[in-house]
This record gives sequence, structure tokens and C-alpha cells, in this order.
Amino acid sequence: MKFNTKLLHSKAITDYPQREILPPISQVSAFKYESMEELEKVFSHKTMGYAYTRIGNPTLTAFERRMSELEGGINAVSCSSGMSAVMISLLAVCSSGDEIIAGNGLYGGTINLFHDLEKFGIHTIFAKDMTAEGIEPLISNKTRAVFGELISNPSLRVFDVSSVSEVSRASKIPLIVDSTTATPFIAKPLELGANIVIHSASKYINGGGNSIGGIIIDGGNFDWDFKKHTALSEFQKYGKMAFSIRLRTDIWENFGGCMAPMNAFLNYIGLDTLGLRMEKICKNADALAKALNKIQGIEVNYLSLPQNKFHNYFENQLKGYGGGILTFRARSKENAFKIINSLKYAFIASNIGDLRTLVIHPASTLYMNTAKEEMNAAGVYDDTIRVSVGIEDSEDLISDFEAAIQKLKGE
Ligand code: PLP
Repeated sequence: MKFNTKLLHSKAITDYPQREILPPISQVSAFKYESMEELEKVFSHKTMGYAYTRIGNPTLTAFERRMSELEGGINAVSCSSGMSAVMISLLAVCSSGDEIIAGNGLYGGTINLFHDLEKFGIHTIFAKDMTAEGIEPLISNKTRAVFGELISNPSLRVFDVSSVSEVSRASKIPLIVDSTTATPFIAKPLELGANIVIHSASKYINGGGNSIGGIIIDGGNFDWDFKKHTALSEFQKYGKMAFSIRLRTDIWENFGGCMAPMNAFLNYIGLDTLGLRMEKICKNADALAKALNKIQGIEVNYLSLPQNKFHNYFENQLKGYGGGILTFRARSKENAFKIINSLKYAFIASNIGDLRTLVIHPASTLYMNTAKEEMNAAGVYDDTIRVSVGIEDSEDLISDFEAAIQKLKGE
């Protein structure tokens, strides 16, 4: 099956209780049982069943099964937000005193989370280059995870998942990939060698801009060294499943970061059109980037442009799709604000992955609490405009952006 067929007809799409085409929304807190014996069996995992939505819910399961299959994993756990997915995946493998190696140019919220984790005794080292050569010297006997964004938001840095995973695997360290901006339409990190994939489902997975969520997918392809990963030592008997079991029955459950059933349903229906949306969004982003690139004085960052530093990944790892985000520089914050305020079709909003085009000035919003050096490393400057390209007709988008820039030039 190819991508769009698989989205609609994969094994993960099972029969629902009343033959519904879509999973029912189990909008409940708890599930009732005929006897205490039955509920006891559910609690002790002796029988399959649901007890309480924070520790499992059929609508969440329906979404999780599809995500796990799409990414080629063994299990998926859905979280209340992308940030919750990042945090829970890291805390499942790290204890106080441990270290994480992270790529640079990451999403601002994730950078802030790494700073928060310092207070819990977990230290992050940011790799200058997210390459095999760049991370190898940073690995120490305290390293417990390597973390990178496949296409970073908004710096659009790409890393070679295969070579980085070879180095981390050789040191018995799992590679966790945030694939939010790539989506399974563009790349499958597990097939490339990653061990755990996370998404902010709030973005392209949902697609409609209607709910916040996150998901963690376990590749089940990592040989845990339980002397090193003491966070998982209680789960040693599960072998390659140890991460999944700790996640579901321990840390996810206890941290209380579950996805709401309604949001799982919205994400489930969002998935149906992931392929269609991503195809159109990537084509639009490519067309808009090329049009903006022709305007004198405008510096554009998009992966399909030959001058882009990460362009070599475009044809192979990214299969010719650059994703839906592009940034461009307007020479000053004032210019950036004027361009943004003149746009007709782009909503000024703090999100990506919506089917509507969204714009923002990241320096004064998403990165307002980030040190300038880190902000610049994330590809954000005082004059940067981030565009999350939608599914509108590209001709309209291009003429809208061109008109906004020309208006500024005419002033
Ligand atoms: N990861 C990436 C790459 C993101 O862009 C975002 C949000 O923009 C997140 C994680 C956090 O996701 P959420 O806003 O759903 O918590």
C-alpha cells in the first residue's frame, strides 16, 4: 500500500463496537465493571480493558495504533501536548545526574524544557553540529539520550538520522527524534535508525488547528543496557519492550499527561488527510520560497532552495519535500511587523501545521524568553518572519506576500 491508501486501509484501522467508520469518542473519566474481580484483573494487566482515562481510553488507543503503524513502531502513547511527549520520553530514560545530547536550533519550548530539566539534575549538552562527528566527542558515561528534530522548527536544520543513530547505538544510547515538522509523509525516523519518535500532534498530524496533543512512538529496536539506563532497570524483564512498558504503566500514567479523548478523535480524523495536506503544503511552500527568493533584499530559508545549507538532504532523506515552514528576513523588526500586518491571507498566529497559512515574528513571541545567542542558533533574528504555509492556492499566497513586501518598499 502506498501512503494515502495505507492511511485509510491499514491494519491499525479496526472494527469499532457498533461498526462505526470512525472510532466512537469515549468521553468518560472511568469505565464500569460487573464485579470487583474483573476490575482487579484490568488493574493488574491480567486482562485487556480500560479503567480510567488517564491510564488508557479506547479513543486514544485508536489514534495510537494508527500512529504506531504509520511510523513503524511497536507501541505509541498519546500525550496532552507535544511538550508533554518530549518531557515524558526523556524522563522515561533519564535519572538525576544523567546527560542528554541535543541538536542545536531546536524549537524554543524544547530548549526551555532542557533548562528546566537542569533543576532536576538532568544536564543537556547542545551539539554544535548534529552529525556523527559532532556528537561522538560529547558522549560520556552519563549520556542517556541523543535528541534531535528531523527538520528543526524554525531553523530548518536537518540531520542525518542514519549516521547519528549508528554512533549513538554503538554507545548504547537511544536516539529520540522529534519528527513534528517532517511527519511520516516525509520521513520515517525509525526506518532510518532512530529508536523513539515523538510528534507534537497539535501541528500536521491534527492539521486543522483544533487541538493540542503529542505522541511518543517506541521503535522497539533498542537493546537497553539496564546498568546504564537505571531509570528502566525495574522493567528489565521486558527486554526491548522495557521503554514502552515503563512509559505506559509507570511514567505516563503517573505524570498525568494523557491526551483528551475528544482530541484523540480530532487527531484521528486529521490523520486521514495527512498525505493530501502535506503534498499540497510542501508544494505551496516550495513555490512561495522560490518567489520570495527572487525579491531583492529578502533572504529566504527553505530546504528546496539550492543555496540552503541542508539542501543535500532534500532529495534523499526528505524525498523531495521540504515541509511546510519557511522563514525570511526583512532587514529590521519594524519591516517584519509591517509585512506581517499587510498580509491578507495569512493569519497572525502562534502555531504551525494548520491548513491555513500562519505567520509570526518569532523573536518577539516564541523566543522572547530565550537568550539571544540561542535564538540566533535557532535561526531566529530580530527581522525573521516565520511562515507556516497552508493549503490555499499558491498563486494567491505568492501575490499576497509580494504585495506586502512591495508596499513596504514603496514607503
Ligand atoms: N516540537 C516541535 C518541533 C514544535 O514545533 C512544537 C511546538 O511548536 C513542540 C514540539 C511542542 O508542541 P506542543 O505545542 O503541542 O506542546
